[in-house]
Amino acid sequence: MPTNAFPPEIQLLADLHKPNARLGPGSDEHTRLALQLSGLKDRADLRIADLGCGTGASTLVLAEELDGEITAIDLFPEFLAELNRRAASRGILNITTAAASFDDLPFEPHSLDAIWSEGAIYNLGFEAGVKAWREFLAPAGILAVSELTWTTANRPSELQIHWESEYPEVDTASAKIAVLEDNGFKLEGYFPLPPSCWLDNYYRPLQARFPSFLDEQERSSASILCVEENKREIALYERFQDFFSYGFYVAKRVA
Ligand code: SAH
Repeated sequence: MPTNAFPPEIQLLADLHKPNARLGPGSDEHTRLALQLSGLKDRADLRIADLGCGTGASTLVLAEELDGEITAIDLFPEFLAELNRRAASRGILNITTAAASFDDLPFEPHSLDAIWSEGAIYNLGFEAGVKAWREFLAPAGILAVSELTWTTANRPSELQIHWESEYPEVDTASAKIAVLEDNGFKLEGYFPLPPSCWLDNYYRPLQARFPSFLDEQERSSASILCVEENKREIALYERFQDFFSYGFYVAKRVA
């Protein structure tokens, strides 16, 4: 698909993010922690999909830690190109990339041992994603996803209003776990991502990218707006980090 097929504001976001190693909160260490909870490390010849892989933050860890083939899916070919460069520079051979949308995934029913997806299921919505992706999993297949999660019962109304308008499905971990249980999954483990996953690994590199992005875009008003929106999101996290994070959910398909 030619890159000019995307709406300009979406393409702009992709241009902002494409040189960065991580396009959402996370860390290699926390991908490994989720892998420990999943039991996948004890198995061989795995078929795994990393959905919304971006530039490959989790994909590269999966490829190095697991015995099997990883298919890495993202809407943006330029993210996949960066992933392929990074895999080649590490001598990793068990990743195949494919540009595809969550609406049209290139997998047969029950064909995957695991679906991994860090910071991306919100694009479908958590419940819709859990339902749709379950069909691709073999019996006892693993679903490992990170998802925006309230970490307390109550929170400042300014924060609540912001996230409920940006992402109406934002909820507590107990509510997300109930969605998994109601849709044919058993929880294998859960943890919230700590601030280092947001600040050191995601927001600081993103802030460092702003000047070169604005130069490349010749300071168009759309690019300035894009940076301002990202700065507002960062400020919101810095003020309210006690009340929300990404939760990492590792679940097993049951019957
Ligand atoms: N997992 C990566 C990227 C997270 S950002 C990381 O943790 O760094 C979310 C990713 O989902 C982006 O790369 C975006 O291009 C991708 N994405 C968003 N909507 C999508 C869709 N409908 N189909 C496929 N990928 C999508």
